[in-house]
Amino acid sequence: MSDYQHRARKRFGQNFLHDAGVIDRILRAIRAKEGERMLEIGPGQGALTEGLLGSGAQLDVIELDRDLIPILQGQFGDNPRFKLNQGDALKFDFSQLQAEPHSLRVVGNLPYNISTPLIFHLLDNAELIRDMHFMLQKEVVERLAATPGGGDWGRLSIMVQYHCRVEHLFNVGPGAFNPPPKVESAIVRLVPHEVLPHPAKDHRLLERVVREAFNQRRKTLRNTLKALLPASAIEAAEVDGSLRPEQLDLAAFVRLADQLAMQPGNAD
Ligand code: SAM
Repeated sequence: MSDYQHRARKRFGQNFLHDAGVIDRILRAIRAKEGERMLEIGPGQGALTEGLLGSGAQLDVIELDRDLIPILQGQFGDNPRFKLNQGDALKFDFSQLQAEPHSLRVVGNLPYNISTPLIFHLLDNAELIRDMHFMLQKEVVERLAATPGGGDWGRLSIMVQYHCRVEHLFNVGPGAFNPPPKVESAIVRLVPHEVLPHPAKDHRLLERVVREAFNQRRKTLRNTLKALLPASAIEAAEVDGSLRPEQLDLAAFVRLADQLAMQPGNAD
């Protein structure tokens, strides 16, 4: 370890894990194995990195804060299975890792301000990914793992569940971090489907229908989707237009998106 004392930076969302019990529980949930391809986003001062490398996995890390680079390099740089990438994970081109399809295991105690865009960026490369384990704000994990009918069910739940199976593994209190965040956290596991259970003709149209429907979540679908779909198309999707968006499951949204694909202007 170097003598340099790193001061946590708010703008990089730095809340470093220091509770050995929590770190161990996370590593046991991930169960990294020798030879696996792993990617850690935001390794910070290496709280999870050490255990991940200890498993014998091949580990790439992406860290944005330049001041942490010498610390990480000093701690792990001698290990031939460790590769440090300095930069913004939101801009990182995951194809450069040249991972086999469905092989990459992604891990991160994520900065909360980038967690949602980062998950969407990773889902653009879902075919490379075997699974993802993230520490997120507990409220975000509840939205990811939500089921239809409740207030948590929305755009994030639907678009992530379109691509992945979601498991809310366990919660972590603020005391496990230094400095402690103001919110509760939780660990989530996302496993991209090898075969999509409800494939849409065009997933961009699914995004559009979902966004439009949840823009005004108190209104009926007939109302919110008026500009996109005539009542007859909603009926053809076997959806009751008098329902509100939170009452619809993923399969119903996919049927609406497929009706949208057949509307003039969107048809092939
Ligand atoms: N993994 C460490 C731990 O558990 O103690 C650090 C977690 S801390 C919540 C988030 C880390 O992500 C910090 O090291 C921060 O510098 C880094 N980070 C923030 N924004 C990033 C970005 N856009 N790309 C890559 N790393 C980022």
